[in-house]
Amino acid sequence: MPQLTIVVPAYNESAVLRTFHQRLRQVLDALPLESNVLYVDDGSSDDTWSIIEALIADDPRTGALKLSRNFGKEAALTAGLDAVTADAAVVIDADLQDPPELIPALVEQWQAGFDVVYATRSVREGETALKRFTAAAFYRSMERLSDTAIPRDTGDFRLLSRRALDALGQLRERQRFMKGLFSWIGYRQTAVHYQREPRQAGTTKWNYWRLAQLAIEGITSFSTAPLRLATWVGLGAAGLSFVYGVWVFIKALFHGDPVRGYPTLMLVILFLGGVQLLALGVIGEYLGRNYAESKRRPLYFVEEQRLPRRPH
Ligand code: UDP
Ligand code: MG
Repeated sequence: MPQLTIVVPAYNESAVLRTFHQRLRQVLDALPLESNVLYVDDGSSDDTWSIIEALIADDPRTGALKLSRNFGKEAALTAGLDAVTADAAVVIDADLQDPPELIPALVEQWQAGFDVVYATRSVREGETALKRFTAAAFYRSMERLSDTAIPRDTGDFRLLSRRALDALGQLRERQRFMKGLFSWIGYRQTAVHYQREPRQAGTTKWNYWRLAQLAIEGITSFSTAPLRLATWVGLGAAGLSFVYGVWVFIKALFHGDPVRGYPTLMLVILFLGGVQLLALGVIGEYLGRNYAESKRRPLYFVEEQRLPRRPH
């Protein structure tokens, strides 16, 4: 029988973890597959780890990794996926926003021959209009700016086949924009649609600051368009300044130069200064990323490991 591992990153999820596990287990028990669950405790500060240990004690088909500190969801996912030995893996959030009941539909597409089956949400309930708007704007600009098509309204909830897992395991970059990486590997990909539910309990770990950082990460890891933008803005500013300079020169020829150039001088200096800072900022953004990558640090450290017993 084919084997399936469910990878669940969990950071301070003690409020939902038991409910989640129950619902997940029900779905898995009905599947015609051998399955196990792998939790990744991303350095939680609440009792998430002890709950996971209790779940493991109850259910031998459950395992867990405990990271040495909070590395962020993307690294936690990577740690989990690296540990998967099964024929396929499903990535799912612990907060029940991704319904475990969708897993059979994902598996069906996998068995039909797809390597990456992602779940696309049709409704975002319990999320503010602002969050919906910013998410839509992000996906739209990513589509314009990047060569890697990143499916819209798609979180990390998806199924990956063995070869997709192997491919993903080779991407060791530090700036891990998982949604982008999942698409980048290629192979046969398809979508399954579902309705996104509001978070069951606990609070989201994302605020607008973290989301904005994720958006910048997404754009700069998958597109060099901002670098080009700086070039165009710089070229435009230089062109305008040139035209303006010619005009000032001609005016001085005919009317002389009554030392009143102060406002225009300031204007030009400020404008060019601004454009240069913008360009420097963009370059700095990429340089910073290069710096982080060049250190080649490991993506995570595992403090404790309780791999699930192989299902038999
Ligand atoms: N998560 C994690 N490490 C973090 C933040 C989040 O492992 O630093 C996990 C979290 O426990 C949950 C999933 O990632 O299972 C999604 O987090 P959240 O629900 O906060 O994000 P949202 O659903 O708002 O995108
Ligand atoms: Mg959530």
